[in-house]
Amino acid sequence: MTRVEVAIVGAGFAGIGMASALRRAGREDFVVLERAASVGGTWRDNTYPGVACDVPSHLYGFAAHPNPTWSGTYARGDEIHAYLERVVDAEGLRDRLRLRTAMQWADWDAEHEVWHLGTPSGVIVADAVVLACGRLTEPSIPDVAGLATFPGPLFHSARWDHDVDLAGLRVGVVGTGASAVQLVPELARTAAHVTLFQRSPAWIVPRGGGPYTDADRERFAAAPGELTRLRAALYSEGEARFASRSGDAVAAARAQAEALAHLEAQVADPALRAALTPDYAFGCKRVLLSDEFYPAVASDAVTLVPSALHSVEGPMLVAADGTRHEVDALVLATGFASTQQPYADLVIGEHGQTLAQHWSGGMTSFASTVVAGFPNLFVLNGPNASLGHSSSVLMIEEQAAYTARVLDRRAGGVLRVDPRAESAYTDEIVAAAASTPWMTGGCRNWYVDERSGRLTLLWPGTVDAFRARLARADGSEFLPAPEGIPV
Ligand SMILES: Cc1cc2nc3c(=O)[nH]c(=O)nc-3n(C[C@H](O)[C@H](O)[C@H](O)COP(=O)(O)OP(=O)(O)OC[C@H]3O[C@@H](n4cnc5c(N)ncnc54)[C@H](O)[C@@H]3O)c2cc1C
Repeated sequence: MTRVEVAIVGAGFAGIGMASALRRAGREDFVVLERAASVGGTWRDNTYPGVACDVPSHLYGFAAHPNPTWSGTYARGDEIHAYLERVVDAEGLRDRLRLRTAMQWADWDAEHEVWHLGTPSGVIVADAVVLACGRLTEPSIPDVAGLATFPGPLFHSARWDHDVDLAGLRVGVVGTGASAVQLVPELARTAAHVTLFQRSPAWIVPRGGGPYTDADRERFAAAPGELTRLRAALYSEGEARFASRSGDAVAAARAQAEALAHLEAQVADPALRAALTPDYAFGCKRVLLSDEFYPAVASDAVTLVPSALHSVEGPMLVAADGTRHEVDALVLATGFASTQQPYADLVIGEHGQTLAQHWSGGMTSFASTVVAGFPNLFVLNGPNASLGHSSSVLMIEEQAAYTARVLDRRAGGVLRVDPRAESAYTDEIVAAAASTPWMTGGCRNWYVDERSGRLTLLWPGTVDAFRARLARADGSEFLPAPEGIPV
């Protein structure tokens, strides 16, 4: 049995960011459990051709760890993975990592007021638990009749099978979301043909940017102040983007016009353009960035099937529109199970309820981080913590800072969220989201819980607004003693 003050579960950006925040707050008594063999989360698991961030690299990293060596405006996935490994070393976290150590269950021990976490190598007892298990972690496999009859290579974009050479093969790709727009242009270069199944097109705006030169990288390394200024400028650009994503009529109309002009400039065929034009409000689904997707789809290398994949009959893919397409390999770029996280089934709080049961109507929290009925428990990048307009890392940093601050105030006691604080925070989110395109834009998006129709994934504001909201959390969100402790 291992005894620690804080057990962090997950070693992606959130887990590493949390561990760094604890260390900087002078806390040493923690471990980071990671079920995989290395850190990196998203950037370890997603290795498909073309994988990259779609937020500028200099904003998609920790403020305390600027990286002068990014290869370009949008870093490749392998670079981001390597960056996270370097942060682990720079922060001296290596000896805190417990790799290949999944949290199998976590129970609140009411008598001793500690958490017990089951792992394959024994039980860990912790005063506090930070769930940093991710939200785009579990591939969503579509329920398509006959999928198991497909005779060729078949895998999800987040579990790319590098043993399979797709060069010269006819490849089916299902989905036209964020991963597909990156991987389709790459596949189109080498596959014999790509058949792309599109249930619903995305709004796509120009990506721009490009590679950094050696001179750029030398300049960044020689003058760290320049990276700080660049990050600040990218932060402001991101915050300004919020208006167009959240339904400001003027900003959304301008951004939509830019997207339509981009489509028109890159796709000559009016019928194909029509098939690629969304019929829902700009911002309703994640707006994608690509300069290569439309040209690839417009080329002879790709056939767009403007219809969902309905069924599979051996090598024959049958679309919902009845068309049939024979392929040799099939890639599911179908996204992730986002609203119902498997980790929630593993955690039992003080009323004997699992987190999944508490969240049966969709995720709820106070400060997007703490949950009533789950003492001394923190969830990073979970309920209402993701962004459609800027870098997730900014939110993770705010949540980690809040968690470290609250743990400081804990002073050995138990933090119990007042259910009224959670419910008031949920009402704030509902009110802020009510008239946004995420709720009213006429699309089905992964920000909204399908059971309650409530916005549960996305934070419906700017990063500045999140920071300000967390700054207003003065401790009154926790129950006073004897139920909890005054903080
Ligand atoms: C292809 C792709 C591209 C993206 N691009 C961007 C982008 O450009 N900008 C942006 O802001 N966001 C982007 N995202 C979102 C991205 O997920 C976040 O930015 C960020 O990486 C999430 O970090 P995380 O630590 O919260 O989660 P993850 O990176 O998913 O890490 C969670 C970790 O927890 C581990 N874990 C889960 N359950 C357990 C358990 N029971 N026990 C032990 N370990 C466990 C997992 O193995 C994983 O390592 C992208 C996502 C994907 C999939």
